[in-house]
Amino acid sequence: MMRASAPIRGCNDGGGAMILIPCPHCGPRDEAEFTYGGPRRHFSALNGQTTPDDWQAALYHPANPRGPLAELWYHASGCERWIEVTRHTATHDISQSGPPSRPEEGT
Ligand SMILES: [Zn+2]
Repeated sequence: MMRASAPIRGCNDGGGAMILIPCPHCGPRDEAEFTYGGPRRHFSALNGQTTPDDWQAALYHPANPRGPLAELWYHASGCERWIEVTRHTATHDISQSGPPSRPEEGT
């Protein structure tokens, strides 16, 4: 995981927020080059004891915090790789980016 030396700020000039996403392979790029993959989710808590309600909650009700959130983005107009970005959902500040983490690495 790569930490940005300083948070990369979203820009809101009144025409809508623009996010500069630091791709670990290509460098900082406009969000228009990416496809949003949603919050990073690991389903390690789901097992044979999991109820249908647990599955429904895990699949259709992802975390939606106001604050830092690990997300997946696909760099469709660049390296064509999935990356994991930690973005503040209110300010769009990005604190780190890197390849998608494995469940044991995630938080
Ligand atoms: Zn890239």
